[in-house]
Amino acid sequence: MRIEMYSHNAKRMKSNIIRELLKYTMEPEMISFGGGAPDPETFPRNELSEIARDVLKNEYKVCLQYGTTEGDKLLREEYFKLLESRDGITGLNLKNMIVVSGSQSSLDLISKVFLDHDSIYFISKPAYLGAASAFSIFSRNNEDLVLKDDGMDLDTLEKRLEEIKQKGDLLKVKFVYVVPNFHNPAGITLSLEKRKRLVDICERYDILIIEDDPYGSLRYNGESLPSLFKLGSYNRVLLLKTFSKVLSPGMRLGFIIGREDIIQAFIKAKQSTDLCTSSLTQRIAARYLQRYGLYSTIDETIKLYRRKKDIMLEELQEQFKDIPMKWTKPEGGLFVWATLPEEFDTHEMLDIALENRIIYIPGDAFSVQNGCNNSMRLSFCLPPEEDIVEGVKRLKKTILAYGNKKGLL
Ligand SMILES: *Cc1c(COP(=O)(O)O)cnc(C)c1O
Repeated sequence: MRIEMYSHNAKRMKSNIIRELLKYTMEPEMISFGGGAPDPETFPRNELSEIARDVLKNEYKVCLQYGTTEGDKLLREEYFKLLESRDGITGLNLKNMIVVSGSQSSLDLISKVFLDHDSIYFISKPAYLGAASAFSIFSRNNEDLVLKDDGMDLDTLEKRLEEIKQKGDLLKVKFVYVVPNFHNPAGITLSLEKRKRLVDICERYDILIIEDDPYGSLRYNGESLPSLFKLGSYNRVLLLKTFSKVLSPGMRLGFIIGREDIIQAFIKAKQSTDLCTSSLTQRIAARYLQRYGLYSTIDETIKLYRRKKDIMLEELQEQFKDIPMKWTKPEGGLFVWATLPEEFDTHEMLDIALENRIIYIPGDAFSVQNGCNNSMRLSFCLPPEEDIVEGVKRLKKTILAYGNKKGLL
């Protein structure tokens, strides 16, 4: 077949290493710190199956039919109640929200609506892979902001914005993309001070903030911080939420909350993508929220993950006393980000890891250009508790074998 058949955009699309590693997770005796998928035991399957039956039987005229592009009114009303009670976000109406097929769909719509090939956007390093790949199809002019212990490097943001402004290119800057809570892959949370400063900088240069917050409700320790959306108001911030990490990723339900005119632009863009989000899962979710509320589920989930997170951190502490590896200590979410000395190449090391029956995601998978070669993402959400302990031991064995082979230890 002719390669010319494919569009420039299609030729730019890269396959995701996480998907490729998935095939190894099925092998016997394998322990995986690789996946980012929730533990299926957290899915409220009995409640959902009962509701699904009721909805299909009694509301078939809605749930088996096309829905409006902006989403099921019932679900949006229920979700607003949640935002109000849980996040203190008030003063919005239905026109400030669109229901989408998961946050990945939000990222795709954002790319379509905001990015031209010469558009500039800011993203963290390491970056959430799903966002980086959605944006880079439309523009590769990303500016990387290194993640520090308290979140993105805002000095660089300010410096680069000033330089871009001096060049007369400020109008090309479209947004800063942020995962403020328990970052994927880094597990880092943006501090309150930096949240305020980020809003302030974006006000001054008049650019949007994309706040992607799938993990905000999965906090295991410490106190919640106000969202950028709350600090900066809906004129400045687009808030992305999803049910994927707190209810079920298979339902494919996400939300964009923001300025009415921007939501209108998303509605137009979504019409050419998929017309509407699944009417069936939207109505099931709406009835679920009415009957049970989201937080009956989340409280149980938090208990389970908190324990797994503590086990992983304790075992890392125990096993890595004499090895020069650093790792983040997340207060929530699903990920720990570990960093070895610079000469280590975690991608190359993966062969030894697979021999030792342990999987992690090498850091370069989360880098838009190059870099993060000496880091890796470790997820504690899926393996059972005893596998987490054993997995950390196998990781140590892997690092020792690689380090000794390369003369690095
Ligand atoms: C998991 C995740 C998402 C969620 O994607 P869905 O399409 O809603 O399943 C979005 N952003 C980040 C940072 C994530 O980790």
